[in-house]
Amino acid sequence: MKLREARVSYLRQTSLPNKRSALLQIRSDLRQVVAVVVAVVLMLAPVAWAERTQLKPGWNLFSPEQDAQLGRQVSRDAERQVPMLNDARVDAYLNSLGRRLAAHAPYHYFQYQFKCVNDRAINAFALPGGFVYINRGVLEAADNEAQVAGVMAHEISHVELRHGTNQATKAYAWQVPLGVLGGALGNNAVGAVAQAIGGFAVNSVLLKYSRTAESQADILGTQILYDSGYDPRAMAQFFEKIEAESKGRNPAEFFSNHPSPEHRMERVNDEVEKLGGPPRGYKTDSPEFREIKRYVLSLPAPPKGGRAPQQAGGGRTRRPDQPSSHFQSYENEALRMSYPDNWRPNGQGSAVSFVPAGGVVDDGRGKGALAYGMIVNIFEPHHDRSEPVTVEDATDQLIDDMRHSNPGMRVVRQHERIRLDGERGLSTYLSNDSPASGRETDWLVTVLRPEGLIYFVCVAPEREYDEYDRTFEAMLNSVRFRR
Ligand SMILES: [Zn+2]
Repeated sequence: MKLREARVSYLRQTSLPNKRSALLQIRSDLRQVVAVVVAVVLMLAPVAWAERTQLKPGWNLFSPEQDAQLGRQVSRDAERQVPMLNDARVDAYLNSLGRRLAAHAPYHYFQYQFKCVNDRAINAFALPGGFVYINRGVLEAADNEAQVAGVMAHEISHVELRHGTNQATKAYAWQVPLGVLGGALGNNAVGAVAQAIGGFAVNSVLLKYSRTAESQADILGTQILYDSGYDPRAMAQFFEKIEAESKGRNPAEFFSNHPSPEHRMERVNDEVEKLGGPPRGYKTDSPEFREIKRYVLSLPAPPKGGRAPQQAGGGRTRRPDQPSSHFQSYENEALRMSYPDNWRPNGQGSAVSFVPAGGVVDDGRGKGALAYGMIVNIFEPHHDRSEPVTVEDATDQLIDDMRHSNPGMRVVRQHERIRLDGERGLSTYLSNDSPASGRETDWLVTVLRPEGLIYFVCVAPEREYDEYDRTFEAMLNSVRFRR
């Protein structure tokens, strides 16, 4: 989000009702159903199951069949872009191991297929519906079969928990006719989403997982390893190994599309403990693995320039730390509000932005642009007629104005009425090019006050927006206008 200089003010909101709460209602109904199902399953399950962490897929407008349909479409594109090894022997090994693991996946919706990518970087990725790709670098770097199984179990978990289409749902739901919210997408919508995603890119919404998704894939992956009779500690051990080996250099590629959640190792170890430690007679290695590793190491080096896709875009790899749940208060001539104490306010007059460290990035032309954070300001609407300007008009003028410096900006969800500190306001969702690469979501909240249109722009990359939503709401709820 690029900004012009401006002035600010304040909001407080009593509620953000409407579709948001309807969705919350649906979610909480679902949660109750799931809780009952989980409770019944727990009663029937053997004791060892009682302790394991229960995970479930998030909000999703796709059906599992549509996951497979979308994955198949995107996989064709992926296999043209990525250097495939196309070695029947290696793929047969991966499929035999992968299907043994997938047999212990919790939902059994998908027909899995595993293929080897001719790239020595340690990486792997999975598309919705069970299309899993493992770089030869994983086979070459792993000390034993359990470690390879760990990477595969992690990828299978992303597929099972349907993280790709969950993210696509969140990113594209606003473009879908409102009637289908809470229902399922029609089949032609899958094509539309595939088109919106714009083919295969590691940076795309399908493969850029949130830290929450990573944590879930680690935990479910550990459970799958356990249930398949492998040492469930192997996944975490392999992650630790590649992290240690890449110390001081660029972060290992695996972590660029599988960002490390906080306390990654501790959480996996906790899960292993909940499972009661490694299963009796657990497997670590196999002669088949040692043979395939030797074979892959003997193959010719990958072609030059044939790299699996890298993180595209502005070249920043480090995301800001997650917003703190401790808030500090801020005050200027227009309003009072709170912000996470690991963010910094930068203000002048009635304009202020609240930004985490790393939240402002180079826009590619040497100028800083806000990729994460909140902007608060005042816009003076123009009106040449005698009647007073409405909040809708003023908001439209502001959006036009912002478009001058942000040509890629578009409205994805029209004005909805809200209240902020008791004042009538509007909520509008915009999509824009993110200076951190990809698209960003800009949640715009506007309130018309005597001093002008006070506006709040909540900014985060589309794929991470969920991680910031709550913080933005809490900040808006804290707003008190000067009266
Ligand atoms: Zn992952």
